Amino acid sequence: MKARPIGITILAFLFALNVAVYAVFALLAVFNHGALVAVLHTLSPSGAGPETIHSSMGRLQPIYYSGMAILTCAMAVGFWKLQNWARIVMLALIALSLLLMTTEVRPLLATPTAGAIIFTLVRIALSVFWLWYLLRRPVRDVFRREAAAAFGRVLSVGAFFLFVLGPAQAQNDVSDIILVNANVFTASNAHPHAEAIAIKGERILAVGMNQEIISLAGPKTKKIDAAGRLVIPGILDTHIHYMLMDAVPDVTTVDFGGFAPTCKHVLEMVADKVNDVSVGNLLFGFMGANAFFDPECTPAALDRVAPHTAVFLAGGTVHAGMLNSAAVKWFGIDTSASPPLAGWYGKNAKSKTWDGVVHNSAMLPLFVRAISDGSKDDEKLRKYFVDEARWGITGNTFMEYKPAARIEQLARVNAPFRVWVMPFAQYETGQKRRRLQQATVPPAIADRVTSHGEKWVLDGEPVHRTAPMRAPYADDPTTSGQTDYPDAEVRAILSEAVQHNLPLMIHVTADRSTEQLLNQMDATGGEKVWANRRLRIEHGNGLMEDLIPRARKLGVIVAENPMYLGELPLSPQRPPVWTPCRSVLEAGIPLVLASDGRPDFPFLNPFLNIQIATTYALYPKEAITREQALIAFTRTAAYSEFVEDRLGTLEVGKLADLAVLSQDIFKVSNDDLPKTESVLTIVGGNIAYSREPIQ
Ligand SMILES: [Zn+2]
Repeated sequence: MKARPIGITILAFLFALNVAVYAVFALLAVFNHGALVAVLHTLSPSGAGPETIHSSMGRLQPIYYSGMAILTCAMAVGFWKLQNWARIVMLALIALSLLLMTTEVRPLLATPTAGAIIFTLVRIALSVFWLWYLLRRPVRDVFRREAAAAFGRVLSVGAFFLFVLGPAQAQNDVSDIILVNANVFTASNAHPHAEAIAIKGERILAVGMNQEIISLAGPKTKKIDAAGRLVIPGILDTHIHYMLMDAVPDVTTVDFGGFAPTCKHVLEMVADKVNDVSVGNLLFGFMGANAFFDPECTPAALDRVAPHTAVFLAGGTVHAGMLNSAAVKWFGIDTSASPPLAGWYGKNAKSKTWDGVVHNSAMLPLFVRAISDGSKDDEKLRKYFVDEARWGITGNTFMEYKPAARIEQLARVNAPFRVWVMPFAQYETGQKRRRLQQATVPPAIADRVTSHGEKWVLDGEPVHRTAPMRAPYADDPTTSGQTDYPDAEVRAILSEAVQHNLPLMIHVTADRSTEQLLNQMDATGGEKVWANRRLRIEHGNGLMEDLIPRARKLGVIVAENPMYLGELPLSPQRPPVWTPCRSVLEAGIPLVLASDGRPDFPFLNPFLNIQIATTYALYPKEAITREQALIAFTRTAAYSEFVEDRLGTLEVGKLADLAVLSQDIFKVSNDDLPKTESVLTIVGGNIAYSREPIQ
């Protein structure tokens, strides 16, 4: 008898392992779906591997996995008899598997985990051994003689465990919480409505009719009667600037009242307020666009009313501001240097030399210095999360200048909410763009907090007429704004993000800059590179009709902030563009709604945002339905952050993030919509907020 090659033993083992895995998956698909999702997620956290196959299976999962187990067994039998059909099918499967694997390598390298690496190695080993076997006749001959017995032994041990452990697993199928008598809007296309939900651990165990769900309750199950209320997936507000306006020790703030004070009022208040400012402190406030453009309001005028106190006033937004001479010293600005890349000086942003008025990247670092990011005030962050939960918001995306500081704070606060920390481009003086820091998230909070990607500000905004239009501004034909970045810089940002596999969120507020972005996406690989990268355009003003089909082809997602859809009190400007909503959806582009808010900001209210997006007073034709608006805040928001496999809808196996609302937002009057609250917010199976005590 020839010695059995070691490869044969390994092959038999791998083969048996393969059958066992499929059998376990099939059992889990039938008896414990939540566990199956969790297992698949561990194997492929990037969502590129088995989870993709899994979610595309839908209700066919048990059949699929049983089928694969049987097919694999049949294949083994076929091999023992060396039947040609089995060899051909196997070759095809190996080819397919290797092909699929090429798409998974990049996400795997981006987020390597032990589970994913082992799973991939097992798959590669299987393919290699099968090829080795198929291509060498002597090996096949030995295998025919020797391997059947080895395989049989391994399989029978495996079968024993399957029969013993499978049912044990299934018996575990009792829920921790059931929510009954609810009007569930799942946000899933397949089954949009249900009556009840069962939750086990952090995931949804079942969604269905009351009776079905009640049968999943055990003696220890917490039963919550929703009394007919609307239940929705947890809302994800994916565009937040977490910062506090009044918490830096050496800054005194001034509130001029309202969005559009007059220049006279601003100067009078500054003259009055400087008396309260301690020596060495800076006075900071928002003067609004009206006063900003008033010829009487200049840095020289600020010098007159505040000759000795540093005064720094933002315009209508954080993209423009004005400083008096004392503030120039306070910030230590080198007035002889030209503005940093993507920054401008001058009221009309045409000046190249220092005049005390700053735009974009000449402005943002000053703003960041003048206000607090709140990363030391943990109480405020805790309160913020509770305030959000009162609206049923379970996830936030923070655009962060210093991601590491926020992540440290999130670890300290350890709140049960989901946060994506998005590194925000931080401009420095000079012409060099800085590579953004990608901070790591400590394991203790890694189930809720993620941080990767890049947020860039590609242009200014219409409020200060810095957003680049293809036609002049209606109320100032002398300007059509200006592009902030040379094309080469945009290409560099795009290519680097592709190279490092970083999701991009790009602030774009005009048609000329939208066109620039799309052109540079074409120049960096076009559809082939971008179609699946989910690049997000923030704000999306100026995505004009001719640009929409191009954006769709490039796989762009549009994130709109409804507060900018109305006639803004902070913006007297008339840009020659509009902000599409309905056309975006009709073109097949994913539409996300988000607030662009900060703590204590009224527009944080998602139901106020839904009200604005569904009325759209300026362009009623572009209004969307309430259902579309809610989906934009849940399912599509999750998709835009690559977490649609676990968040965004109420479906079996997904994370149990949901809100029970005080009123039915599909039925209440338009005026009442913003009064909606959450009476119960659940995140990952935990009650994160409840208006009334829960027994
Ligand atoms: Zn923003």
